[in-house]
This record gives sequence, structure tokens and C-alpha cells, in this order.
Amino acid sequence: IGFVQSADPEVGAAMQRELGRQRANIELIASENIVSPAVMAAMGSVLTNKYAEGYPGHRYYGGCQFVDEVEQIAIDRACKLFGAKYANVQPHSGAQANLAVYFALLDVGDTVMGMDLSQGGHLTHGSPVNMSGKNYHFVSYGVGEDGRIDYAALAKQVAKVRPKLLVAGASAYPRAIDFAKLAEIAHGYGAMLMVDMAHIAGLVAGGMHQNPVPYADVVTTTTHKTLRGPRGGLILTNNEYLIKRINSAIFPGTQGGPLEHVIAAKAVCFGEALQPAFREYARKIVENAAALADELTARGVKLVSGGTDNHLLLIDLTDEDCTGKELEHNLDEVHITANKNTVPGEKRSPFVTSGVRVGTPAVTTRGMGPAEMKIIADCIADCIFDFEAKKEDIAARVAELSARFPLYE
Ligand code: PLP
Repeated sequence: IGFVQSADPEVGAAMQRELGRQRANIELIASENIVSPAVMAAMGSVLTNKYAEGYPGHRYYGGCQFVDEVEQIAIDRACKLFGAKYANVQPHSGAQANLAVYFALLDVGDTVMGMDLSQGGHLTHGSPVNMSGKNYHFVSYGVGEDGRIDYAALAKQVAKVRPKLLVAGASAYPRAIDFAKLAEIAHGYGAMLMVDMAHIAGLVAGGMHQNPVPYADVVTTTTHKTLRGPRGGLILTNNEYLIKRINSAIFPGTQGGPLEHVIAAKAVCFGEALQPAFREYARKIVENAAALADELTARGVKLVSGGTDNHLLLIDLTDEDCTGKELEHNLDEVHITANKNTVPGEKRSPFVTSGVRVGTPAVTTRGMGPAEMKIIADCIADCIFDFEAKKEDIAARVAELSARFPLYE
């Protein structure tokens, strides 16, 4: 930031304020994390200067010998980390990865099934406002009354709808997903299975969630959530025919030149995730989420599905006066960052909602453990039940907690 500040004080000052915000706030947005200095340094490097359309060894520009090395390291590490035969490390984002897979596997108008956005799915899983929903005939599935995927009901729906592709994975689903069962369902009815493991990729890498790679035809992910890498996407498959189609769908199908500086940061991130310490990190993310769920439940806060198996929980405010929007605002005021979210069977509008999604990847990176989850749970419960009377006191507790876990010192 110092370099930017001396060259461009206006941008530098805004960046400095964002660093201050990250230091002062307790980050509970389930899709965010805090990258290592090495990941960050790779992104802010000379590799941003290089055009490298194509793939390692087959580029449309000269001078690619060193970015070839970088991209090949990223590919090899991604394959090793997730036990996949093939990887494409070029998607600029998770959305780009998903749209490229659809472009590779489907024809416009094909029938696809994906999880409903309001039940935990992602925009790119067929929302009508997204290109996925506009180009393909998406039929959505949801969760049962217990907030979990009902595999028997899903099998019946697949039998009826007969999609060409079943899309699994979610942005707001607090429970483990059984990829073996989903593959059995999809393949049993002649459909392909795509798993978007964006949210749980770090848990998969760290051995805390079933790995979809052996079961799915294609796996997509972002690299910046639990995996703790740069903002970006990744596609994995064991199928030689599909990787050829996918590579063409990324370039020249949907993207131009790859972001080699970001690919270098992905390589660094995969290297970190291959270390034993990352398994410990993944274990702690889940331990912290479970602790947060227990403490919130003890304070009388309802959770969708009654708890969590992964890195996130969904606070259910259906029976409370406090809405998702209000709780997000209250939390913001005391420097806790989270986002409002619809809950299954949502009765309020998507702009108001009856839920708030909270996750533990970032606070775990910061070094917090179950004792700190109790403090955070108490702050959240006070923001729901007694905000006006306690807001100054909550803010003081948050300030004390942030100060104890310094960031980028
Ligand atoms: N897939 C899932 C399940 C996600 O949760 C997200 C982001 O929240 C994405 C895809 C999209 O990733 P990006 O924001 O990098 O496009």
C-alpha cells in the first residue's frame, strides 16, 4: 500500500482505510478469507505484464517460457491437492469456471438441475437473472423441511426431469454433501454431475469434507474462500475428453489472456494447502463453526438444520422481530461483518430476509479458537435480542477481540 500511496495518494488512502477496516472488524462472511503475504505478493507482481493466450507449451505469444513454468506448477499442484488427473487454472472467477463448463458440456436450451438460489444455491446454478438461467433450461431443487438435501426426493425429481447435467454445491448450505450419492443419482438417469465446491474447497483439501473429484464428471471451485488463495476459479476432471472441451471453453471460448499473476498466486496457495499445517487449519475452521453453532444455540438463536457440518451456519430469524437486514446492519455497527441471507421457506423479501450467514474461515486464519467463538456468539445474540441497550458494550468487546488478533502487522 505504501508504493501506491506515494504514487497515487487518492487510491492509496482508500486502500489504507480498507486495511484499517479489515483489522478492526471481525470477518464472518463465509466466502471470505485472509491470504498469506506470499499469495498477495504473487498477485502484485511482474507476471501481470505478460500476455499468454493458450496453454503451457501452446501459446499464441512469444516469451511465455517462464509463465509456462508458473502455470504448469499450478496445474500439477491442483491435481495433486485434489487427486485429479486434469486441471484448468485459468478461470478468472468461480462464475467464469461454471459458465465455461456449461459451454463445454451443454447446448443452449438443454435441461439442467441446480440448487435453488433461495435454498442455498449460487446465481450461476440457474438463476433467471444469470446467463446460466437464460441460456439453459434450469429446473431447481431445494432442501427438505429439516434444511438438508433430501436425496430420495432429489432422485425422484431427476427421474422426472431427466436433466443432461446435475449441478451440486452451494453458497449457503451448512451441511455435508454426499457426492457419491449424487453421482449415483445423476449417472443412474444418464445425467452428468458437476460439483461446484467453491465454498468447501479448503475443507476438501484439508480432509474435512468428502472429495467430489472421484465421483463427479467435472468439479469447479473458486480459490479464494476456504482454500485461502487469490480471487479466481479452477476446474478439475479425470476425463480426458472433457478436459479438452473445457480447455477450449475457457480459451478461446469465454476468456482471453490468462491472469498469470493470479495463477502464480493460485500455485502458491495450492502449495500452502499441500502442507500438513493446512489440514490443521481446515480442522479448526470446522471446530470453530461447531463451537459457534453450540454457543448461539445455547443463547436461544435458531439455526437452519439445527447446526453445521462445515465452515458456515445460517441464523434463522423467522420467529424473531429482528430481520436478516436488521441483524446485518446491527452487526456492521459493532464491527462484525456478515451478510443477510434467505432461509429455506423464506417469508420475507430477498432484500429483507430472515437469515444471516456466518462463517469461520477468516477468523480461524486470524488465530481465533472456540473461546473466541463464545465471545462472538454472545455479541451476535446481543445484536439480535438487545441491540439498543448493549451496542456500545458489544462494540467494546469486538474492539478488544480484534486487537488481540492483529492482522498483517
Ligand atoms: N459458486 C459458488 C458456490 C459460490 O458461492 C460463488 C461465490 O460466491 C461462486 C460460484 C462464484 O464465484 P466468483 O464470485 O469468483 O465468480
